[in-house]
Amino acid sequence: MIKTDILIIGAGPTGLFTVFEAGLLKLKCHLIDALPQPGGQCSELYPKKPIYDIPGFPEILAGDLTSNLLEQGKQFQPGFTLGERAETIEKQNDGSFIVTTNKGTQHHAPIIAIAGGLGSFEPRKPKLEHIEKYEDKGVNYFIKDPEVYRDKKVVIAGGGDSALDWSIFLADVASEVTLVHRRNEFRGALDSVEQVQELKWLNKINLITPAEITALHGENKIEGVSVTKDGETQTIEADAFIPLFGLSPKLGPIANWGLEIEKNAIKVDTLDYQTNIPGIYAIGDVNTYEGKLKLILCGFHEATLMCQSAYKRLNPGKKFVLKYTTVSGINGFDGSRKESPKAIVKAIV
Ligand SMILES: Cc1cc2nc3c(=O)[nH]c(=O)nc-3n(C[C@H](O)[C@H](O)[C@H](O)COP(=O)(O)OP(=O)(O)OC[C@H]3O[C@@H](n4cnc5c(N)ncnc54)[C@H](O)[C@@H]3O)c2cc1C
Repeated sequence: MIKTDILIIGAGPTGLFTVFEAGLLKLKCHLIDALPQPGGQCSELYPKKPIYDIPGFPEILAGDLTSNLLEQGKQFQPGFTLGERAETIEKQNDGSFIVTTNKGTQHHAPIIAIAGGLGSFEPRKPKLEHIEKYEDKGVNYFIKDPEVYRDKKVVIAGGGDSALDWSIFLADVASEVTLVHRRNEFRGALDSVEQVQELKWLNKINLITPAEITALHGENKIEGVSVTKDGETQTIEADAFIPLFGLSPKLGPIANWGLEIEKNAIKVDTLDYQTNIPGIYAIGDVNTYEGKLKLILCGFHEATLMCQSAYKRLNPGKKFVLKYTTVSGINGFDGSRKESPKAIVKAIV
């Protein structure tokens, strides 16, 4: 069982910044995300797009913002459970919570911060008979660790950036890479399309278009797939089948946690972004209140106020004086640092 002070569901920009704000208050965080990497929409949907409305950054790529947030929070050593979806929540007699993921990992915390954005990104699955039987037994909808495919025969399906980029990457890792797409044209970056064509001429990628995977084969794990092109079907040997058809966000299991939901978002009190269940907060894109704006900077603000409220909840009666990080540093928020602001400033300069 993983134990922490604040369990954050969602490692998008809001969840990542919560780690920093909580860290200033000496509260430990652990993050769960259904995606295999942190960053939420920024890393999944638009890592190479510039954002122009992050205070202090006239322009920053969404991917770089994610890296910076991770760097900023690193000093507080957050834990991560990635590639797992928070599925159920159980309130304990002492008011704390146990959150269990779809893979059975259990997390125990007195405070829950739901930073689930648009919801968990669920992979779009191809409609193939018995596909569930092969999930995690050769069929995967994300690539968490490409090394798993070293010297294996891999079949990838899809026509977007993920399918192209992973085919290119795995061409040097797997023993055989087959890319199947139902059209001749791809939706991904032109440069990636060209690289795939080049690798095809070098016999490093077996490109089959326009074609579709029509059946999966294997006793207890994937051993082959059927590919149908121009009405003719062939069976290819395969150790892995990776359909990369994109992700669609769904509020998912969180919608069944007894929280007040309005228009697919969680209603909160703007005093501290707490939900109708004491101890459970909702911050960032996942919440709703009058005047709500789904912007990263609003998520940062909500995370900050939420952490103050969580601190008070965990330390009833303890006096808390807000200090600027410029004055206290990042470790001085518990009052242990006794120097006057002037002395600290002098020491720094
Ligand atoms: C193309 C595009 C451009 C944008 N440009 C801007 C911009 O210029 N400026 C701006 O301020 N905003 C912009 N946005 C919006 C911005 O990305 C969002 O406001 C921001 O990502 C919200 O952050 P978040 O952390 O609240 O949620 P998200 O980024 O959505 O992250 C939520 C995370 O929670 C995870 N999750 C959800 N449910 C579960 C669960 N049950 N278990 C485990 N994990 C779960 C999801 O997998 C996801 O990773 C843009 C959005 C898009 C799509």
